[in-house]
Amino acid sequence: MNLFVEIFYFAAAVLFIIGLKQMSSPVNARRGIIWAGVGMALATLITFVHPHVNSNYILILLGIGIGGGLAWKTGKEVAMTDMPQMIALYNGMGGGAAAAIAAVELIKQEPMSLTIQLMAVSGALIGAIAFSGSLIAYGKLQGIKQLRKPTRFKHQQRINAGVFIVAAWMALGIATSGTDYGMFTLFLFFALALAFGVMMTLPIGGADMPVVISLYNAFTGLAVGFEGFVLETPAMMIAGIVVGSAGTLLTQLMAKAMNRPISNVLFSNFGDTTGEAQAVSGSMKAIESPDAAIMMAFAEKVIIVPGYGMAVAQAQHKVWEMTKQLQERGVTVKFAIHPVAGRMPGHMNVLLAEAGVPYDIIYDLDEINEEFKTADVVLVIGANDVVNPAARTDPNSPIYGMPILNADYARNVIVVKRGQGAGFSGIENHLFFADNCRMLYGDGQAVANELVSDMKSL
Ligand code: NAP
Repeated sequence: MNLFVEIFYFAAAVLFIIGLKQMSSPVNARRGIIWAGVGMALATLITFVHPHVNSNYILILLGIGIGGGLAWKTGKEVAMTDMPQMIALYNGMGGGAAAAIAAVELIKQEPMSLTIQLMAVSGALIGAIAFSGSLIAYGKLQGIKQLRKPTRFKHQQRINAGVFIVAAWMALGIATSGTDYGMFTLFLFFALALAFGVMMTLPIGGADMPVVISLYNAFTGLAVGFEGFVLETPAMMIAGIVVGSAGTLLTQLMAKAMNRPISNVLFSNFGDTTGEAQAVSGSMKAIESPDAAIMMAFAEKVIIVPGYGMAVAQAQHKVWEMTKQLQERGVTVKFAIHPVAGRMPGHMNVLLAEAGVPYDIIYDLDEINEEFKTADVVLVIGANDVVNPAARTDPNSPIYGMPILNADYARNVIVVKRGQGAGFSGIENHLFFADNCRMLYGDGQAVANELVSDMKSL
């Protein structure tokens, strides 16, 4: 590769790293995306003068046109609440692209060093798993009926492990046989890797999807990194390694937030339960907006717990307006963010940042959980699973063991939601039936708006 191309690939890789660094805070995140995007554009452009790319320009342009066009259109049109599905889909495309690169290189049956051949098959294996697994994750997040419910059957874990072992063994066989492997073996290897991605994801329950998505994100990064070595493309190696390590860290953080060891994601019926769910006692008691406004306006401390419903309602601006009303009255207001609130990591932080809520009143679960017992009012707006006490008390609950925000420990809890809709995990929430809890029914934005006017008229 000539020095000119190498310098530009290196510059692209530096831009990826700067972009990723900036994405670590909601303040700079948008800028980070632009830096990384410029890096990607540079890497793509410079590939046209790569010495190995000396034909097929029409095909490449067609691919860029179709892929870029589709991405542009879907990116423009996707609702903020559907972002996780889109991330799952794009993750899958990255893994699939890495596996396709490996397939092309392996089909050529040209001699490669053992190390490079090992990298090619490793990238193929991981990329194919990320591809098919992400498609199933997409289906689950999209709420496709046949996929939403975990599919489980007898000896499933053993069969899954068996399929993986055979696929990995075939990968090793292909890598160590030089050019002496048949096309059928190659085909079977890819088929098994793809099947494993599907089989691994099918038994996983909805509430556990954040860990799975970030795991596939890490897989895709690794696969791309491996194929970067095969193609001797430094920008791909670095981008893959950066995505792979960021994805691995995110997976660890998500698993910690869900209180599940990562090994469970791979080979167990994650979130599996066999017994009956605990019966709910008590009844749901409604409250009207003027009473809720009085309760909060005359409190000393209010903690707001936002969830997915706040994103659906796009209520963040009104919630911030209400917060300012309360602050003007001398009420201490804090926001409590659960690590898996919403539908993607950092979802609530991004929305609150967009509305202008200052960071120093936004707290993570670990920082604020002890404070709930000293709160006069907790306002839960569009959150459900992340405040469900069943995670603490019901060993048969699919979310048992997940740390939750201790909203139920507060003196009073007001829950804003539209009706009797369940959370993402589809289970009953015991908090809504508790003596200290009142339900304020309505769309998040409309309710927050009403609360603002009621507070103003006090
Ligand atoms: P949740 O459990 O999904 O509950 C959201 C609640 O919002 C629902 O009960 C719904 O009740 C209400 N709602 C919906 N639209 C509303 C509107 N317009 N106005 C007011 N309320 C509305 O949300 P969560 O507590 O944030 O928990 C997140 C869940 O998603 C967890 O189970 C998590 O594991 C999962 N998940 C998270 C991620 C991630 O990375 N953060 C990714 C994938 C999955 P009504 O229908 O009655 O209004």
